[in-house]
Amino acid sequence: MKITQISLLRDNYGYLLVCEKTKHAAIVDPSEAEPVLRRIAQEQATLTAILNTHHHRDHTGGNEGILAAHKVRVCGHKSDQARVFGMTDGVDEGDEIHIGELKGKVFFIPGHTTGHVAYLFEDNLFCGDTLFTAGCGRLFEGTPEQMHASLKQLMALPDHTKVYCGHEYTENNLRFAVTVEPKNPKLVARYDRVKALRASGASTVPATMEEEKETNPFLRWDSAEIQASVKSAAPDTHLDPVSVFATVRKMKDAF
Ligand code: ZN
Ligand code: FE
Repeated sequence: MKITQISLLRDNYGYLLVCEKTKHAAIVDPSEAEPVLRRIAQEQATLTAILNTHHHRDHTGGNEGILAAHKVRVCGHKSDQARVFGMTDGVDEGDEIHIGELKGKVFFIPGHTTGHVAYLFEDNLFCGDTLFTAGCGRLFEGTPEQMHASLKQLMALPDHTKVYCGHEYTENNLRFAVTVEPKNPKLVARYDRVKALRASGASTVPATMEEEKETNPFLRWDSAEIQASVKSAAPDTHLDPVSVFATVRKMKDAF
């Protein structure tokens, strides 16, 4: 399969997935239509589906314009029929999606919104605004319990899984991460690497799940250093995983 990352709006990423055998394609989270339509033409691909991770405009804003040019199915979580433009296929945990000969799997991962899903094709995870490289989405509609469970589910994927998230937020996320776990050498090294990439205008997405487990503060509720940071910021926090996660999330919200 061929994956093309498309920069959209200010810092969004859409992803064009092409089955190289059949040239059938899907677009994950088209924030806007024009750049996506150009890319599909360049690839000489046949679009067969729009895959939306959640209803936010910066992930669905291109649905209408794309549908005007290509009559394709639109997948999103089944609870978001009224909030995802043009949805034809309400999907849920465990569903399979076929794009040409590519087979994808759906994960239901609420927390950022109540109807958030991720799509896994081979070792490529398209996780929208749930898991970010070095961060996670804000809890706009869900609870810390839900988001923690969703992140834990994604963490169970193999280490070499590539994390394709919805935004280029890595540098800013790492700027926060080093304040809560400054003695994590892998984190410090990643921050240096990412700063250099951004200075040259390069993308920092995808990362691997291994990197995320080693450096993403929202997955590191077991880290003694993170627990100590949480305790000093909010002394009443219990040190169970959900509470540690919830406090780190609050600290980032206020950062
Ligand atoms: Zn969002
Ligand atoms: Fe977003």
